[in-house]
Amino acid sequence: MDAPYAKLDELEPGIARVLAHNPSAFTYYGTQTYLIGTSEVALIDPGPDSPEHLDALNKAVGNRPVAAIMCTHTHRDHSPAAAPLAARFGAPIVGCAALALETVGPRADASFDRDYTPGRVLGDGEALEVDGDPVVAVATPGHTSNHLCFSWRGALFSGDHVMGWSTTVVVPPDGDMAEYMASLDKLRQREDRVYYPAHGPAVNNPQQYVRHLVGHRMQRERQILSLVAGRPRTIPHIVANAYPSLDPRLTAAAGGSVLAHLIDLERRGLVERRDGGWTAV
Ligand SMILES: [Zn+2]
Repeated sequence: MDAPYAKLDELEPGIARVLAHNPSAFTYYGTQTYLIGTSEVALIDPGPDSPEHLDALNKAVGNRPVAAIMCTHTHRDHSPAAAPLAARFGAPIVGCAALALETVGPRADASFDRDYTPGRVLGDGEALEVDGDPVVAVATPGHTSNHLCFSWRGALFSGDHVMGWSTTVVVPPDGDMAEYMASLDKLRQREDRVYYPAHGPAVNNPQQYVRHLVGHRMQRERQILSLVAGRPRTIPHIVANAYPSLDPRLTAAAGGSVLAHLIDLERRGLVERRDGGWTAV
């Protein structure tokens, strides 16, 4: 596929996207920045701070007023363009909180944008009006502790919480499997008609897709429990057995997801740490 970098791609009336040129094992073809609104717009997940992407967004916005620059979370493929775009358009940065680094210790690694500074943080259920309709924040911690989805006119901008091409990476200490599962359950109780994720195609069957994701994680959990039954096992051993045909670039992320499952199972009293590994209780 020829990915349509730096082009405005209209998805439905009032919703368009521009794909940033930052493909990787974690971003698929790149980050999709969404423009919502017609006479007035907001940008969701501004993406990386690259000249090509900023110029494409500038062209896509044209002369229209920008109500807000909105970020679902602060991974470096999502939020670094927020500040330059806010300056260019005279628009506020509204959405997720910055990561609370000082109170919780070393949660943030190099994948986090430490410069992100929101003008207004939206709590769960809080909204901002864009082009006459509310954009409502849906708190969805798990992938990161500060993750929000945004709902507007029946569409849910799902960031990295639910993606159209891959399961979501959940890496401790900031990523939390129990929170991620609770956030999936929260979406399962909603009636969004479509999801527009930051990476990968739109999800046109949200309810069914979220049920599939929950089933996938529960299957992974059962698999990990059976691998640690009887004797302690290390995370590399679990990864090698649970992900047999894994892309080597994703080994560390898979280890993170296994750790996230083990921490959750430990809290529930189902596994414990012993002899340098993990084992079922
Ligand atoms: Zn992310």
